[in-house]
Amino acid sequence: MSNIESQIKFYTEQFPSHVKLVAVSKTKPASDLQLAYNAGQRVFGENYVQELVDKHEQLPTDIQWHFIGNLQSNKVKYIAPFVALIHGVNSISTLKEIDKQGKKLNKHIDILLQLHVATEESKFGFSEEEVLEIASQKESYSNVNFRGVMGMASFTEDQSLIRKEFQEVNRIFSMLKLHFGESFNEISTGMSGDWKIAVEEGSTLVRIGSAIFGSR
Ligand SMILES: *Cc1c(COP(=O)(O)O)cnc(C)c1O
Repeated sequence: MSNIESQIKFYTEQFPSHVKLVAVSKTKPASDLQLAYNAGQRVFGENYVQELVDKHEQLPTDIQWHFIGNLQSNKVKYIAPFVALIHGVNSISTLKEIDKQGKKLNKHIDILLQLHVATEESKFGFSEEEVLEIASQKESYSNVNFRGVMGMASFTEDQSLIRKEFQEVNRIFSMLKLHFGESFNEISTGMSGDWKIAVEEGSTLVRIGSAIFGSR
């Protein structure tokens, strides 16, 4: 069994049944994704639009493709026809464009609102006020399915800070759920270095890259 296959099996066994593994395969060749696929993995996360389009064309059709990068509104149209979930929606212009492409394709597009909870200014994401504003205007995005939230913790060794930031994601999630309802049920938190804390703090989608596919 390859290392990729054994890592897929490891995480699948570690996670409680309500937590899904998103295998983050950015910059890795299609052959690596195929190995993960052969081990039963069906959900893959990619950060770059062109790379995602290429891999979607090359690999099995039952893969669920998640876009986890920073999505510019002018690129939405390339992934809208097939993407299963867009994790990092962090601007109103991208949200409007996703709604527009959804209308064009006559479908609803699943998205997560990205929350800014880390201490770094450089990280993307909405504030609590901004997402509450979006929630109060949700009718104007009729072809967007609001499925939950996504967050990234600070890049730090401080485990208690990471935990606090994931708790903050969870708190805002619970508040938003009152507006968006039952189908708002996903929390995308946790990566190779902090997945254990994320799962303890309510994550339902864990995005793991380097621990499965090796360093980039
Ligand atoms: C690259 C990336 C990951 C995976 O990170 P690893 O540390 O390699 O597990 C998860 N989420 C996002 C948004 C990423 O860009």
